[in-house]
Amino acid sequence: MNKFSTFLLALLGLNVSTACSQQQYADADVQGFAVLVNDDVQLVDVRTPSEYADGHLEGAVNINVTGSSFAEKAKQQLSTLRPVAVYCRSGHRSMLAARTLSGEGFRVTNLKGGIQAWQKAGMPVTTSTTEVDVFRTPSGKTVRFYALVHASIRIVYDGKELQIDPVRQLGDRTIDYAAMPKADYLIVTHEHHDHFDKEALEILTGNHTRLVTNARCGEMLGRGEVMANGDSLRLADDILLEAVPAYNYTDGHTQFHPKGRDNGFVLTLDGLRIYIAGDTEDIPEMAQLSNIDIAFMPCNQPYTMTTEQLQRAARTVRPRVLFPYHYGQTDVTSLPAVLAADSIDVRIRHYE
Ligand code: ZN
Ligand code: ZN
Repeated sequence: MNKFSTFLLALLGLNVSTACSQQQYADADVQGFAVLVNDDVQLVDVRTPSEYADGHLEGAVNINVTGSSFAEKAKQQLSTLRPVAVYCRSGHRSMLAARTLSGEGFRVTNLKGGIQAWQKAGMPVTTSTTEVDVFRTPSGKTVRFYALVHASIRIVYDGKELQIDPVRQLGDRTIDYAAMPKADYLIVTHEHHDHFDKEALEILTGNHTRLVTNARCGEMLGRGEVMANGDSLRLADDILLEAVPAYNYTDGHTQFHPKGRDNGFVLTLDGLRIYIAGDTEDIPEMAQLSNIDIAFMPCNQPYTMTTEQLQRAARTVRPRVLFPYHYGQTDVTSLPAVLAADSIDVRIRHYE
């Protein structure tokens, strides 16, 4: 660490601890930690599951440092490519966690004073276990992705609420849309029950809500703005929506998603380009997508792609970050290691 980066860390309220020459991590006060949490950091609550359930920082995963095989679990769940931020109740257990993790090659920041200091400073905690990924647009605005279920994604961008294919119930999972703010933009790819739920759309509709669908959903709802493959719609100065093809080409599968009927979308938020593939196979049109930062791609049979097709699609689109979604019972756990060789950061979230 050079003097300049030490200086930058100091500006953020971070201090570098050198408990041991190989185990180096930073300490942050609440203010500095809040800056980190608002960026693309892996946030880890190292307390016990019951402490975590009582309330934690939004988007934190729980890996108990006093439980068995903490280091092993951390290595399975966290990427060494991105920074890690840890906290506990008062800052003591997280210091031990930070030492262990930095020894395993992670770049770690520890919250001084723990969640106690965080709450004392009036910062929010939640009991929601929904996974959240945070990104920044080129000009520094924050984009949060909430992994709701299967193909349902909530995106919060600069105070705007976007909901993609909101569905209330799939299998044993129920999503409470009434607990979320009304949507600014509701975006629906196609009519299948795991994408199109009239009730969810009703719940999320307020006076200001704009609904965008394909032609068939537009007919079924009798409202909304309709987009076909190739159309683009400027939703705001800094929000552009482009509809792209999504279909099956494999013999015996083409009836699921016939070419030209359904949409995938490229959503550009202040320069951050997000590809939401919809229900599709690895179609040739994917080669025309450019500068995709973040991609959501489906992976289940017989409706969408196999894991091999998903790998091909990922290598064609080349996103920085790939979220396999709509994956049902498909085993996608090998994808992060396989696609790391292509410099694609694959993140497995609760989108089965
Ligand atoms: Zn479908
Ligand atoms: Zn589907």
